[in-house]
Amino acid sequence: MKVIEKIREATAANDSRAVFSFEFFPPKTEDGVDNLFERMERMVAHNPSFCDITWGAGGSTADLTLEIANRMQNMVCVETMMHLTCTNMPVEKIDHALETIKSNGIQNVLALRGDPPHGQDKFVQVEGGFACALDLVKHIRSKYGDYFGITVAGYPEGHPDVIQDGVAPPEAYQNDLAYLKRKVDAGADLIVTQLFYDTDIFLKFVNDCRQIGITVPIVPGIMPINNFKGFLRMTGFCKTKIPPEIMAALEPIKDNEEAVRAYGIHLGTEMCKKIMASGIRTLHLYTLNMEKSALAILMNLGLVEESKIARPLPWRRPANVFRVKENVRPIFWANRPKSYISRTVGWDQYPHGRWGDSRNASYGALSDYQFLRPRSRDKKLHEEWAVPLKNVEDIYEKFMKFCLGKLRTSPWTELDGLQPETKIITEQLGNINLKGFLTINSQPAVNGAKSDSPSVGWGGPGGYVYQKAYLEFFCSPEKLNALVDKCKIFQSLTYMAVNKEGTWKSNINNTDVNAVTWGVFPAKEIIQPTVVDPQSFMVWKDEAFEIWSRGWAKLYPEDDPSRKLLEEVQSKYYLVSLVDNDYVHGDLFAVFKDI
Ligand code: FAD
Repeated sequence: MKVIEKIREATAANDSRAVFSFEFFPPKTEDGVDNLFERMERMVAHNPSFCDITWGAGGSTADLTLEIANRMQNMVCVETMMHLTCTNMPVEKIDHALETIKSNGIQNVLALRGDPPHGQDKFVQVEGGFACALDLVKHIRSKYGDYFGITVAGYPEGHPDVIQDGVAPPEAYQNDLAYLKRKVDAGADLIVTQLFYDTDIFLKFVNDCRQIGITVPIVPGIMPINNFKGFLRMTGFCKTKIPPEIMAALEPIKDNEEAVRAYGIHLGTEMCKKIMASGIRTLHLYTLNMEKSALAILMNLGLVEESKIARPLPWRRPANVFRVKENVRPIFWANRPKSYISRTVGWDQYPHGRWGDSRNASYGALSDYQFLRPRSRDKKLHEEWAVPLKNVEDIYEKFMKFCLGKLRTSPWTELDGLQPETKIITEQLGNINLKGFLTINSQPAVNGAKSDSPSVGWGGPGGYVYQKAYLEFFCSPEKLNALVDKCKIFQSLTYMAVNKEGTWKSNINNTDVNAVTWGVFPAKEIIQPTVVDPQSFMVWKDEAFEIWSRGWAKLYPEDDPSRKLLEEVQSKYYLVSLVDNDYVHGDLFAVFKDI
């Protein structure tokens, strides 16, 4: 979706809250990229309207920026705006970048001229290339029509090139404004500004823009001060005016990083309050890839709450323009959403988001990608799971500890720790794991909880959510037989079980689809975002079993006895999916008594 549409929607809703966005830059190392994505996951949970990724000066990060943009839009599932500069860029390279993001379902570009690459102080136009952002905007509109939302840069103090002795001469400032209008007239639908620390200058700039007929939203770029030296470097580079009171406040604390950061949060909050008081409802935070200050400012403004992370659905809906209508998923990948997305990436049919249409499409084959983890995560997993295992009881204990929140990682999850709803049943889960029912997925029964409940809610306020109790686990054939016998007594239970070879046991038909999560909202059809179905279960089982070897056993050296033990379990155990259909009175854990 275009960012401008999101902003218009928010404005039309007459919501007094502001919408906000975060900007990131491509880190220099692989570890840095891993860390950025972990941080981004946490920040995106607070529902920014969009996030930006910058384009390194002179196209120096082109490939990385394209890859990060793709992952942001399709894996992190946040609306992504990619910066694109035309400095040192032949038109073919620009088109390659635009075609790439288009095919990845990204609809937003921040079109820029760019600065000269390091070592050069003048911008050099590539032969046959573009001279300025205006050329780039015209090109995007003429070649890609209406597909992209185009944002351009605005400079409240004038572009640094025209600033002399701290200010832009009035004529140069007016020329800059007139040029900005040309960028908008050529097809830009949004302006994001250069950083500033004098809010009055920003407000005057907005007013000046309106005076000359620029009507598109102007989003203030806020850069929280994180440390004194960085602040001086950045403001020096951009020739940003520093109001004397800010310098006076920073000077005595400049060597105390904690105090500088706290002041930066205070200043950022006050600037945003003043901007919002003038009626502007959009904020863009230059995060410099750090999360604390940006989130603290938004918390001070009441735009995010630490404890309340709103979920539009139980899973994060992809931002990709081609699959925004997707609204049903099998529960099996609940803890591995990225794997699910990558295995369904070839599905081009989400016409009405109905499960029935997409069910016929084939899942992508298992690839190494499914078992690749960010390095930091791999390290944690190694620490927590690659310990000597003497017998199966040691394995049971690992699963139990994860369910009790004593371990942060599990080979079967891409997420960090347990989901809030799992904590409701953590003790029961711990107990059955110790008995040898090794759980990898679960949800408690819910019979009409408010849709903004912090633990089980989704879909925003005003509705009610429901779900059937669900458990998914590995267990030995003996335990499975005992469970199957008990299921004859507990008639509200339906199950499917399969081992690695595909031997199948179940008390449902293989075409049955069971909705296990649904919600009732004002003026909407019933939404049922999560289902249990045998066809996807058979696809999921390959991945679930493969994790025993590629996700866990592989953490040990080749002939290690622990590795052998894990491979033995993998070859003997069953994967079981168990639903209690009585979401009103059922007690799913009762079936495990005396087994
Ligand atoms: P332009 O809009 O082309 O304008 C540059 C200056 O030249 C202005 O003063 C303008 O008035 C003048 N000018 C240009 N053409 C004309 C003309 N025909 N007539 C009159 N005046 C003209 N840089 C990166 O390398 N990567 C990034 O990801 C990046 N992201 C940025 C994000 C934001 C929000 C901002 C504000 C800047 C960003 N920059 C980035 C920096 C930016 O590339 C530089 O500021 C660059 O010097 C100008 O780019 P621009 O798109 O504003 O240029």
